[in-house]
Amino acid sequence: MAEKTAPQIKIGHYILGDTLGVGTFGKVKIATHHVTNHKVAVKILNRQKIKNLDVVGKIKREIQNLKLFRHPHIIKLYQVMSTPTDIFMVMEYVAGGELFDYIVKHGKLKEPEARRFFQQIISGVDYCHRHMVVHRDLKPENLLLDSTLNVKIADFGLSNMMYDGEFLRTSCGSPNYAAPEVISGKLYAGPEVDIWSCGVILYALLCGTLPFDDEHVPTLFRKIKSGIFAIPEYLNKEVVSLLCLMLQVDPLKRATIKGIREHDWFKTDVPSYLFPSENDQDASIVDYEVVREICEKFNVTEMEVNRALMSGDPYDQLSIAYHLILDNNRIADEAADSEIQEFYLASSPPVDSFLMATSPLKPHPERMPEMKGTSHTLEPLLATTNKGMTPSKKAKWHLGIRSQSKPQDIMHEVFRAMKTLDYEWKTVNPYHIKVRRKNPGSGRYSKMNLQLYQVDQKSFLLDFKSLNMVDVSEGSPGNSLSDSMGRSMSGSPPSSLSDLDERMETDDETPKCHVTLEFFEMCANLITTLAR
Ligand code: ADP
Repeated sequence: MAEKTAPQIKIGHYILGDTLGVGTFGKVKIATHHVTNHKVAVKILNRQKIKNLDVVGKIKREIQNLKLFRHPHIIKLYQVMSTPTDIFMVMEYVAGGELFDYIVKHGKLKEPEARRFFQQIISGVDYCHRHMVVHRDLKPENLLLDSTLNVKIADFGLSNMMYDGEFLRTSCGSPNYAAPEVISGKLYAGPEVDIWSCGVILYALLCGTLPFDDEHVPTLFRKIKSGIFAIPEYLNKEVVSLLCLMLQVDPLKRATIKGIREHDWFKTDVPSYLFPSENDQDASIVDYEVVREICEKFNVTEMEVNRALMSGDPYDQLSIAYHLILDNNRIADEAADSEIQEFYLASSPPVDSFLMATSPLKPHPERMPEMKGTSHTLEPLLATTNKGMTPSKKAKWHLGIRSQSKPQDIMHEVFRAMKTLDYEWKTVNPYHIKVRRKNPGSGRYSKMNLQLYQVDQKSFLLDFKSLNMVDVSEGSPGNSLSDSMGRSMSGSPPSSLSDLDERMETDDETPKCHVTLEFFEMCANLITTLAR
């Protein structure tokens, strides 16, 4: 139930609550989704203060991309909304406060604890760098903690948007974490500036003090530029060597993420989830429990939620709700099941896109801005590999068979069946093949296209399309016709003529009715063999 006290201020679907803190550009408030009741943090940026933040121009795409970031140790940005006076950034909410306060409260941390925080930070920074985003303003104030003391990096990408030369001077309360080249006013700031800041953070975690500090800013700058810092006795030699590599004044000599990851001190007890192989990062698994929850709460059908998830439109409210619920369910699970806590600690962001094994499925809808605007009919798998082809019109009906196996397995079965039937084929891509079969009586070839489509997150449709027919009768019904249950229907617009170049050579003048019969015979044989 929504709070009934003060008049509610609603930002989109979120009801604003108490102020969590005040940052450089405005307040951060807690907010509650009016339907799901899930909590988010809303950063309110005052347009007056950030005149240079061009949210409608080139920055818009950056924000769009930031919303696609999913990492266990990066605050998720769900949505950005704007009014003439303010910009609202709707983010993942974490309840554990700032790492800065944690250090202040606990003093210098024990080495294993410091290492654990540091490993999480480097994992998040690595992820962002891989996606071409440099933080530029890493400091313990931007490192938040969740309820189970996992680091969540805030404001990734924000400084990029505001980086106009003025930003660092206006935004950094203290430049203690800034790299020498940054305070020297060099406009270019690449990933190495984050490495420096991480070095300062590591020092702060281990020592409870800063490596470069002075109340007098010019003296502080001089200290930073010198790169000389005190090394307390209690620090172990291994970590000192890592600190020295990270706090190298010359950015070219400074440690890289790769170097840090290979460093012995860093490698100790590093959880494997922090650095999944690159292929592991694009996968798509839909939680149907969550889909059903949305169906109930929003009074929509599963199909609508699926469409929303597959549309690639990150502004879609159903899609946003889906990810909010997913994240929050995970947090709830963490608390409920301590046995699997380690696993959830490792995957507090959506598991689907960060940890799952490689899959040839479409990447997670949130990662597919290019899908925006495509129609909501089925999507052929690997369609993008056919970029040279003129896209055919979306068929309203498909003649095919439906399966819930993995797409590779479906195709494996298809190839086996075709071999049994003595069909010949050409592979366009692993999910799209052109098949022909010689009619033993006439000696003529019937040809068809087989394309695997994704119907929803779990099932696939193997679509049969006659190739001979599109040659002869563009616009005539009957070449790709059935609903996804496999019943024959009619009314499909055939592929456009421009596809023809790409099709198998037509070398005969087969009458249409024969073509139809032979096509159906070909399909029937294949279906029968597959069904065995
Ligand atoms: P700054 O501009 O100094 O980096 P922010 O504007 O990001 O600060 O945040 C201001 C305050 O709001 C901080 O004290 C921080 O603890 C809190 N805060 C920011 N983001 C979140 C979040 N996602 N969840 C919980 N608290 C947050």
